[in-house]
Amino acid sequence: MGLDEDALEYHRIDPPGKLEISTTKPTNTQRDLSLAYSPGVAAPCLEIDEDESEAFQYTAKGNLVGVLSNGSAVLGLGDIGAQASKPVMEGKGVLFKRFADIDVFDIELDDADPEKIIEAAKMMEPTFGGINLEDIKAPGCFVIEERLREEMDIPVFHDDQHGTAIISGAALLNAADIADKEIEDMKIVFSGAGASALATAKFYVSLGAKPENIIMCDSSGIITEARATADDINEYKREFARNVPEGDLSDAMEGADVFVGLSVAGIVSQDMVRSMAEDPIIFAMANPDPEIGYAEAKEARDDTVIMATGRSDYPNQVNNVLGFPFIFRGALDVRATEINEDMKVAAASALAELARQDVPDAVVKAYGDDPIQYGPDYIIPKPVDPRVLFRIAPAVAEAAIESGAARTDIDIDEYEEQLEA
Ligand code: NAP
Ligand code: MG
Repeated sequence: MGLDEDALEYHRIDPPGKLEISTTKPTNTQRDLSLAYSPGVAAPCLEIDEDESEAFQYTAKGNLVGVLSNGSAVLGLGDIGAQASKPVMEGKGVLFKRFADIDVFDIELDDADPEKIIEAAKMMEPTFGGINLEDIKAPGCFVIEERLREEMDIPVFHDDQHGTAIISGAALLNAADIADKEIEDMKIVFSGAGASALATAKFYVSLGAKPENIIMCDSSGIITEARATADDINEYKREFARNVPEGDLSDAMEGADVFVGLSVAGIVSQDMVRSMAEDPIIFAMANPDPEIGYAEAKEARDDTVIMATGRSDYPNQVNNVLGFPFIFRGALDVRATEINEDMKVAAASALAELARQDVPDAVVKAYGDDPIQYGPDYIIPKPVDPRVLFRIAPAVAEAAIESGAARTDIDIDEYEEQLEA
């Protein structure tokens, strides 16, 4: 495996890993050092002691995100534990820095108990402008995020849940437009009822989907009210239990407008695609291999199949990097206390809107010179598109201000110009 060897080499080259701390102020003279540390540092400490919000003025807090994991649900690797998850969390830090110039401390916590994770995260509130929870398994991740959102005054955002929800939500807005369907009328079937599927289903409701039109399947089939009362189901799944006959995924998919796969590879057949409504929307996002392959789904029918996957080698890649760097950028820049539903909807809407606009030449070149134009095979912007930063971050910042989550007011037009510069 060439890639594995290359990856080991990449990480091993001295210095090991891929991140380091650097200083941002002069440190050359004795005087510089006495400003940076003792005795000068006492002055900013006292300012903050008087007014804690001054920490944004005198420390790196406002541009620092904690990427926090216990390694219990690491992408494609499962419960590999805290230490083994460190390359992933450092990698997340690389993406934050590369795409939005946000600094990250990766925090790997060696404990499975949600209560302990909650306690640790809360104790670290003074350090960070925001917390990105990462690769923590369901249902513990729901408890952790809910509690931290309630009990902390900085944004806490579990990217595995909401990143997927927001990016695929942007795809849904555009797929609905192209298929000429209203989201509120769509019958939507989920395969998977884990961290990403449950958050995505909730987010689609925020985008206009009717809860009663959403059917969820887990590894035992459709989540029905009968199953929910038989009590083999956690409270988070129970929210989506429907009063329908028991059945499996193929039953659920009959006549559906949208299939959302956040489960496992290969469980959708061409016949199941053929049983869906006209111009079906298929987001098969199991990684690394989708619920059904791109070509297989497209070839199953003669009408328009609008297809997205998690893969970079097919059109419409649902890639979280389109979201978290810019969502945190916008949230940090207004010192937001949370990332709320309005801010998430703003991010999805801005992404959807961006995909409807002409694509810059540099982006077309980066993808091999084939024309890229809004339509079934281009419903979400490309991750290398530089416009994503200066469209998404201001949209999120503006929604934070309007929804009362911002601690500072900024001029959004000026802010957008600053980001573009
Ligand atoms: P998770 O919390 O472990 O949930 C997995 C879900 O899949 C569970 O509800 C599980 O059912 C269900 N499942 C397992 N086998 C199934 C089967 N044969 N038929 C139907 N459902 C089945 O995992 P997650 O974090 O949500 O991620 C799920 C998948 O989505 C992974 O492949 C992940 O890579 C992918 N994903 C992709 C993106 C992206 O493309 N941007 C983002 C996030 C996740 P039970 O509840 O019954 O165990
Ligand atoms: Mg993740």
